[in-house]
Amino acid sequence: MARPGVILPILQNWSCHNCGGCCREHQIVITAEEKNRIDKQKWTGADGVADDRPLIVAHGADFRLNHQADGACVFLDERGLCRIHSKFGEAAKPLACRAYPYAVHPSGNSVTVSLRFSCPSVVQNLGQPVAQQRQTLEALAGEIVPSNYRAPNTPPLYPGQPIIWSDVMRLLAFIERGLSVGAVSFATRLLRVLTWIDLLEKAAPEAISNEQLGNLLPVLHEASVRAQPDDHLPLVKPTGLGRIMFRQWVAQLLRHDTDVTARGGFMGRMHLLGDGLRFTLGRGRVPAMADPISVRVAFSGGSTTTSEAIAAMPTFSQLENEFGGRNAEFDELFVRYFRVKLQGLHFCGRAFYDMPFIDGFRSLALMYPATLWVARMRAARDGRMTISLPDVQAALATIDHNFGYSPALGMAGAKKRIQQLARMQQISALCSWYSR
Ligand code: SF4
Repeated sequence: MARPGVILPILQNWSCHNCGGCCREHQIVITAEEKNRIDKQKWTGADGVADDRPLIVAHGADFRLNHQADGACVFLDERGLCRIHSKFGEAAKPLACRAYPYAVHPSGNSVTVSLRFSCPSVVQNLGQPVAQQRQTLEALAGEIVPSNYRAPNTPPLYPGQPIIWSDVMRLLAFIERGLSVGAVSFATRLLRVLTWIDLLEKAAPEAISNEQLGNLLPVLHEASVRAQPDDHLPLVKPTGLGRIMFRQWVAQLLRHDTDVTARGGFMGRMHLLGDGLRFTLGRGRVPAMADPISVRVAFSGGSTTTSEAIAAMPTFSQLENEFGGRNAEFDELFVRYFRVKLQGLHFCGRAFYDMPFIDGFRSLALMYPATLWVARMRAARDGRMTISLPDVQAALATIDHNFGYSPALGMAGAKKRIQQLARMQQISALCSWYSR
């Protein structure tokens, strides 16, 4: 079969700026073939690599690159550069290293490319336009998608409701337009989309057939505009249960399991459990969690969990107050983030825990209040009651690391939480409440 076409995100720039974050935050799994290739490179202590540990260790049926004592990849040098890249060129690196921060997903007869906003260069939109990197990305997609590629099944619209690829594309285009076009704020546009998605879920199955969906969507959109005509958002506080479930979801997004935390043993696991419990109870101070290294390098702060850092953490109740500072740059960031995830199908189906389209979109929608909640936490721990663009960028870089990748978010309980929040009509309430 001919190679599928590659769909690239528009609006997004990226080039690596060597912060070294991904070389510390990720476990790089490699194949036996990649292991052989690295073995043949004959690394020794004279090259600067650690000689007190193996460079490659077993990882299930595969292998992974080992880490230095401080958690950095064994091949990361003191300048934040990859030794394999420096000595043998980019092509000599494992595929996982060359692919990050790109994420390649088969969709119908195409392959879509998304990006991980955990890379600070992605979140800040730095570097070369992705659209100009077509040649590199087509080669990368060719390595990731097998030559015997077969188009995957579409994710269902919701459990038990099939949908064809052309309607998935129709829906994506309609959501993208709804989120990016209009004189109202991003929060209002998001609430409108969530409103018509609710209506779509309730529509009769025959109304969702190929001929009908194109007619139905504008009608639903009009209804959502009537329900939310301007930027005066309904300020109904989310329910206590809604906020508990939301904080549990945020806690899972904030949790960072790196090589260093894996070595924390029983006490480390107890510590994580305690933090999770505090997020559920929502009383007292928010637990101090060290920021990912890439976030520390790009945005500073939050490097330790010392007693000073713990004392500086805000209380959960402080984060329920109104925070000022929102501006048009926040909206630009959220539009770009949502469009990249939508165009790259990075929120449903095989790329996102096999979630149906609507549940996956609701998960994506929750990234808006979750990012603003974490941005508030960052501002408050610095003694501010207004959030800035770097707060929002750092918050998104922190939590997108786990979005679609943390096994905890793909567990049945986490998936049910999204459905329950939707049934309780809490997703729109959370988006509205934390946009203040
Ligand atoms: S996190 Fe991004 S900028 Fe930093 S080293 Fe990795 S790819 Fe480069």
